[in-house]
Order: sequence, then structure tokens, then C-alpha cells
Amino acid sequence: MNTLKLSHLTEIVKNVAAALKCPKCGKGFVGDAVDVVDITGDRGLFSAHCLHCNSATLVAMSVREFRQKIAKREKQISKVAIGQISPADVVGLKNFLEDFDGDFRRILEQPEQKKKVE
Ligand SMILES: [Zn+2]
Repeated sequence: MNTLKLSHLTEIVKNVAAALKCPKCGKGFVGDAVDVVDITGDRGLFSAHCLHCNSATLVAMSVREFRQKIAKREKQISKVAIGQISPADVVGLKNFLEDFDGDFRRILEQPEQKKKVE
């Protein structure tokens, strides 16, 4: 349930990097300067390396907000995918399966015109 996809992890790291500022020089971090040490549920531990002043920082921060953002977006994507199948399609498939005698070969062998052309 709490497993993270690699793409999600990358996105979380980008978000964390964008939210952080170097405590030493006050400049922002770029994505590849932040590494994940551990993420347990909503809590994340990150190591950040400042490219400006070369200092390393260990940061603990909540990733709840980022995870919710990803979850919300994925929910929308799956809604769109479901929306593309109309009730008519489902009825059509149902009718097809009711009439279908299980002979796939008959269906696959129907377009035979190709051979005549050759
Ligand atoms: Zn710095």
C-alpha cells in the first residue's frame, strides 16, 4: 500500500528540492542534489548537497502533500481512461460474447482477399 513507484520517488525528490533552501547560503537546491535516505509513509528523510556552497544537509520533512498530489492526479487519469469506454461499448461486447460460439479461427480467417491480389 505504501510502496512508491520510481517515477513517484523522482517527483517527490524534485518537489522536496524545490521546497528546500540551503541553511548555510540560503540558495535553492536542484533536483539531482537531493537524495532520498528513507521514506516511511508520509515521512521522508533526505540528504541534500548544496552546489553553491558545497555543504551537505540532512533534512526530515513530510512528503504527505506530494504523495497526495500524485495520488490525486493518478485518480484523474484513471477516471479519464474509464470515461472512454461508453455504456454502448459494454453492451456491444456483451452482445458479441452472447453470439460468439468460441470459434476464433473463423473470425481471424475472414479477411482472405489479400491472397487474390498477389
Ligand atoms: Zn549552500
